[in-house]
Amino acid sequence: MVDCCSAPGLMPFAQALETMLSAITPITDVETITLKDGLGRVLAADIASPMNVPPHNNSAMDGYAFAQASLTTQEYLTLAGRSMAGQPFEGTCAKGECIRIMTGAKLPDGCDSIEMQENCQAEGESIRFLEKRKQGDHVRYAGEDIAKGHIVFAKGRRLSAVDIGVLASLGINELQVFRKLTIALIATGDELKALGEPLGNGDIYESNSYALTGMLQNLNVNIIDFGVIQDDEEAIRQAFIDADKQADAVISSGGVSVGDADYTKMVLEQLGEIAFWKIAMKPGKPFAFGKLPNSYFFGLPGNPVSAMVTADLLAMPALMKLQNCHAKPATTFKAKCLSDLRKSPGRMDFQRGVLSQNSAGELTVGTTGSQGSGILTSIAFANCYIVLPSEQGRVNAGEMVDVRLFERFYS
Ligand code: AMP
Ligand code: MG
Repeated sequence: MVDCCSAPGLMPFAQALETMLSAITPITDVETITLKDGLGRVLAADIASPMNVPPHNNSAMDGYAFAQASLTTQEYLTLAGRSMAGQPFEGTCAKGECIRIMTGAKLPDGCDSIEMQENCQAEGESIRFLEKRKQGDHVRYAGEDIAKGHIVFAKGRRLSAVDIGVLASLGINELQVFRKLTIALIATGDELKALGEPLGNGDIYESNSYALTGMLQNLNVNIIDFGVIQDDEEAIRQAFIDADKQADAVISSGGVSVGDADYTKMVLEQLGEIAFWKIAMKPGKPFAFGKLPNSYFFGLPGNPVSAMVTADLLAMPALMKLQNCHAKPATTFKAKCLSDLRKSPGRMDFQRGVLSQNSAGELTVGTTGSQGSGILTSIAFANCYIVLPSEQGRVNAGEMVDVRLFERFYS
């Protein structure tokens, strides 16, 4: 049986995403920041390493540095000095000599190899080498980690905590990044109450803006929260006009279905170029995308699960493109489904599941239970989507299914 929402004219998910991404022109404004403010920012230029890492050949062991050629005729070398981390041996190690060296210390001139101390016997200034070594043993070469001039991070990379550590190790303290986006959030609905207000008959707490704010914080954007706007055409128009003046993108939730109080579509058609889509995905069929005079517009469905999933799979990739950020491809697996799954052909399902490995080493996925579009805990306790293609019907326990790990947006 084809489900009630799979009428002809639904746009496939992949096509909706593609159409939206190709309609977005990334921002061009760049600013200079210091490294400590870099977390989550998007690089506006490639970063070439200004130096070799490590900067000099150094020792991977505590032991003795020497020239391999010295040991071809003798097994004793004369101790001629010390090289400690931060206090290198300044001279040149001559043939027949060796230098006491500590891990991380600079390899002295004249040396090409290191023997660890466990394989040497010190007899006064005479060091006996008990084993034969190959040239280059235990030497870490300059530039072995990162060579000078090598592009460490490319333009479009969003900086992680580790990236910031790498840049610090290169002595880089100033970065060219794209400016932060400003995103306006609007919740629509007469039934929505702000936290702290008493709930009247039939009211619910407004929650989408909280979850969306958390997701957007992963993109390091400025957020302007317009709070709850009533289901009133004029109030919605005014909010959209104000939001458009201040933001690069406006994200609303609710009011995109075809109910009597769903003014979003009407208002947007007056103010901008809006593509209203019914997307062949579940959750999240109604979704609006378009351009207001100054900003992009994303109209998410109101149901909290639909709002989160369309934000995650459609709005976030679009905002990343707007930020010039290269999105990583989704991490996908095939896993054995642990229970039957209800599904009608007609829409692509993004059910929420828990991916794990059983004692036989097989990847398995279990559902987080009821998949209703208002049940936000179905996402909270999941780590992945169970992606079921449009034409697929019900899934029987034991069948293999496609699984897509959550991005970090939900965390
Ligand atoms: P709508 O898309 O406006 O028809 O809303 C669909 C469902 O989602 C309704 O049950 C709304 O009460 C609920 N809903 C809409 N917006 C929000 C919101 N911001 N927070 C929580 N629930 C919402
Ligand atoms: Mg509504």
